[in-house]
Amino acid sequence: MTLLEVRDLHVDFHTRDGIVKAVNGVNYSVDAGETLAVLGESGSGKSVTAQAIMGILDMPPGRIPKGEILFQGEDMLTMSKEQRRKLRGAKIAMIFQDALSSLNPVLSVGYQLGEMFRVHQGLSRKEARAKSIELMDRVNIPAAKDRVRDYPHQFSGGMRQRIMIAMALALEPDLIIADEPTTALDVTVQAQVMELLADLQREFNMGLILITHDLGVVADVADKIAVMYAGRIVETAPVKELYKAPAHPYTRGLLDSIPRLDQKGRELYAIQGLPPNMSRVPEGCAFHPRCPAAQDICRSELPPLAEVGAGRGSACHFWKETLGD
Ligand code: SF4
Ligand code: MG
Repeated sequence: MTLLEVRDLHVDFHTRDGIVKAVNGVNYSVDAGETLAVLGESGSGKSVTAQAIMGILDMPPGRIPKGEILFQGEDMLTMSKEQRRKLRGAKIAMIFQDALSSLNPVLSVGYQLGEMFRVHQGLSRKEARAKSIELMDRVNIPAAKDRVRDYPHQFSGGMRQRIMIAMALALEPDLIIADEPTTALDVTVQAQVMELLADLQREFNMGLILITHDLGVVADVADKIAVMYAGRIVETAPVKELYKAPAHPYTRGLLDSIPRLDQKGRELYAIQGLPPNMSRVPEGCAFHPRCPAAQDICRSELPPLAEVGAGRGSACHFWKETLGD
């Protein structure tokens, strides 16, 4: 069942430099029990898309001139504020990169977890505390019973991120959106937290949207990937196929820049240059100034997202050559 479908989404920001089209016609969907990784560098529009879904685009003021965000078939963009707020509380939860700034430093984690149950389910303090301990156990926080009264700063970064996951899970949402959930953690802890998230996603049969700049962290947990560049999706594919044979030079560059066990001894590659300033996106294919395969046509014509296989798309004029390489 399709849980969430983003259709032709556009997000604009009005800045001193003019209108910045941060998201420019994005389509993606996630089913119950499925994990979609949305991959991109900073400024690619991956977080902005998530913020549009969550209805938290207001800082700085973002506008959605076009598009639909269907949650279980209903367009969130035309719902009443109240309806949307309810969805956000109970059915869609979000996890952010920085647990320390998302948690309140002067309240115990038990209190903050318990608040979810008190506010949304009307549980008593005692019941809410018991539920909080249960959840802390569930996300593998050792000695949850003793730690429920501790404050956020008393936990390590990895443990705090587990607490954020517990908060997101509290109301058993249908969909979790995790924006760089492990970026602030060191590599070993990253893998553990990612694994936990994947386990819980399976156990609760939730949809999961994993937003990341790191292709390495999503390889084992995602079912499919949407790669974003300069506000558009440039490649979309089941994760295994994308790893085996990317159909877009940008994806290929990203793949070549992560260490892989199956290719020991290979020299790591770095994509040259930087992502574009979004108020001055290059004409044609936005990736052309950085693309080793660019031709004349790339500088003038925007490549459409072409179907390049079952459930696969690539926005490259030369996807065939890229796939065949
Ligand atoms: Fe490179 Fe051209 Fe393909 Fe863009 S369209 S990714 S510039 S080959
Ligand atoms: Mg971001």
